[in-house]
Amino acid sequence: SDIADGLTRGVERVGDTLSGAFMEPVIRLGVTGLSRAGKTVFITSLVANLMDRGRMPGLVAAAEGRISAAYLQPQPDDTLPRFEYEKHLGALTAETPRWPDSTRTVSELRLSLRVRPSGLLAGLQGPRTVHLDIVDYPGEWLLDLGLMDKSFAEWSAETLGRLESREQAQGFLALAREVDATAKLEEPVAQSLAEAFTAYLNAARAAGLSDCTPGRFLLPGDLAGSPVLTFAPLPAPDSPPRRSLWREMERRFEAYKSKVVKPFFRDHFSRIDRQVVLVDALGAIHNGPQAVEDMRRAMADILGAFRPGRNAFLSRLLIGQRVEKILFAATKADHLHHTQHGRLTGIIEALMRDARNRADFAGAETAGMAIAALRATTEETREHGGQTLDCVRGTLMTPEGERGKQAAFYPGALPEDPAHLLGPARDGAEAWLEAEYEVMNFAPARLTLKRGEGPPHIRLDRAAQFLIGDRL
Ligand code: GDP
Repeated sequence: SDIADGLTRGVERVGDTLSGAFMEPVIRLGVTGLSRAGKTVFITSLVANLMDRGRMPGLVAAAEGRISAAYLQPQPDDTLPRFEYEKHLGALTAETPRWPDSTRTVSELRLSLRVRPSGLLAGLQGPRTVHLDIVDYPGEWLLDLGLMDKSFAEWSAETLGRLESREQAQGFLALAREVDATAKLEEPVAQSLAEAFTAYLNAARAAGLSDCTPGRFLLPGDLAGSPVLTFAPLPAPDSPPRRSLWREMERRFEAYKSKVVKPFFRDHFSRIDRQVVLVDALGAIHNGPQAVEDMRRAMADILGAFRPGRNAFLSRLLIGQRVEKILFAATKADHLHHTQHGRLTGIIEALMRDARNRADFAGAETAGMAIAALRATTEETREHGGQTLDCVRGTLMTPEGERGKQAAFYPGALPEDPAHLLGPARDGAEAWLEAEYEVMNFAPARLTLKRGEGPPHIRLDRAAQFLIGDRL
C-alpha cells in the first residue's frame, strides 16, 4: 500500500505543481527546524517583506522591480491549520512588540506573487501568478523518520544505551529498570513510564540537546494523553507474554509509527519542493561541546530525510519525487556584530558538509547561510580596557517577558576555523560565546515601518533568492 500511496501522490503532485484553470505554478516551501529555532519569526518576516516589497534587494525579481503584487490567498489544503500570519505580525509590530507564539504543529500559508517575466520574454508575455505555499512544521517530527525502520526492541535498546550517560535521564532509567515488562499491563504503570520519559526529553531539550525523539512527546498537540503517546523504551525481557506491559508498549510504538509518523510524511513532507532548515547554531555553541555535537548529529538525521534511498519507508513513499533545494540557515545572527557573520557562515557550511557526508547525500542543491529574520539589535564599537570591542545593542527582555533596559553587549568571538568547534581536533571542552551571550535575550525592536517597508532583517532576501528566486 506504500507503493500505491506513492503512485497516488505522484499523480496528485503533477496536478499540484500547476494550480487552477490557468496552470499557475506552485512552489511548496517547507520551513522546519527544532523548536525555538526561529520558524515562526522567519515566515512572518519573509511574508511581510514580500508583501511590502520591503527590504529585499538580494531577491533578484524584487530588485528588478518585477514583483508587481504579493497577496495572501486561501490555502489549497482545507484541513491544515492556517499559519497565523496576521496574529504573529501583530505581535511583532505592536506598540509594545512581543515575539510571537512558536510553532507547535504543522500549518500552511499561501502567498501569491504577480511576477513580470525577465529577459527576452519581458516584452512578449504579461505577468504570471506564482503561488508560494509555505508549510511550517516542527523539526522534531522529521527526526521521527529514524523510528520507521526500527522495531520496538531495537529502538528501546538504542535509546536506553544513549540515555545511560545522560544525567537528565537517570530518573527515568531507574523506573524502567524497576518495572517488570512481563507483568500484565497496568495503565498507571505505562503512564508513569511515559511521563518520566517525557520529562527526560524536555530536560534534554532544555539543556540544548537536539536528539529528542519521538518528536510528538515534546509537541503532542491534540494527541496529548492518548495511548499512542503513552509508551517508553524498556529493557527487553526474554519471552514477554501476551497482554504484558512489553507487548502493549510494542503495539503503541507501532501505532505511533503507522498513525502519527507515516501520515505526516505521506501527506505533508512528500509534497515539499524547497526546504529551509533553521538552526539555532549560536544557542548550541553557547551551550557547549555536547550540544554542538548533538546538533551536528540532528542535522545529519534531518538531511537524511531528504535522501530517501537511505530509508526503505521513504523510498516507497517518494517514488520519483525529490526536494530540489535545501537551505540550512543559522538564525539569530543579529546577536553578533557583522564582523563575526563570516565565521558563523563558515560554521553552518561546515556543519552542512559534515551532515552531507554522514548521510551520504547526493541530490538537492544545498547552501548554508547566517541570517536574522528579524533584526533586534544595532551595532556599536566600544573601548574597554584599552581594547576595541565589536558589540551589539538591543532591548533586553526580563525573565517575566517584559521589556527591560537597553544595553550593549560583547557576545564573545567565534573560532576563525570551524574545525576548532567541530572537527576531531576540536579544542576539548573549550567554550565559545560564553561571556555575555547568556543574558542576550533581546526583545523585538519597536518598528516604525513606513509604507512599503518590511521588517529589518539580515540576509533574509538572500535566503529567499536561493529558495525561490529561480522560479520568479
Ligand atoms: P519556532 O519554535 O521555530 O517557531 O521559533 P520562533 O520563531 O518562535 O523563535 C523562537 C525565539 O527565538 C523567538 O521568540 C525569539 O526570542 C528568538 N528569535 C527568532 N528569530 C530571531 C531573530 O531573527 N533575531 C533575534 N534576536 N531573535 C530571534
